[in-house]
Amino acid sequence: MSDDHERHDSDHELRVSKIRDGTVIDHVRGGQALNVLAILGIDGSEGEEVSVGMNVPSDRLARKDIVKVEGRELSQDEVDVLSLIAPDATINIVRNYEVVEKHRVERPEEVTGVLSCPNPGCITTGDEPVSSRFEVLEDGVRCTYCETIVREEIASLIET
Ligand SMILES: [Zn+2]
Repeated sequence: MSDDHERHDSDHELRVSKIRDGTVIDHVRGGQALNVLAILGIDGSEGEEVSVGMNVPSDRLARKDIVKVEGRELSQDEVDVLSLIAPDATINIVRNYEVVEKHRVERPEEVTGVLSCPNPGCITTGDEPVSSRFEVLEDGVRCTYCETIVREEIASLIET
């Protein structure tokens, strides 16, 4: 990474306020920030301190969103689901204003019990409790049971 790139990136960092302790989710695909918040179960009703930057110019993506969540470090499960809608995202863990951990999200091979199948005939949507399971594809997810493939609006399938 060149110095120019670093400078460029830190300029953009200034667009949203710094946080003291928490998580910065950077390089989210433009327009996905609200879905990221939905995945994290954040709607502001519990007084969560959140900063969102939307459609910020980015080198790596044409436009990116940034989500900063004060006082919360994400679990691996949350990161796994995030990776489905924000495969290029970078997770920065911040403690005392310093980034102490920074890593790209990795798409898991499958996710269990986090998405609900949109197929009403699927065994996982029946009365018998069967945990949903989706295989993660390059461009979407596929139900392991009925093989329904979902490429759009994956966030809307997240089980609550
Ligand atoms: Zn299914």
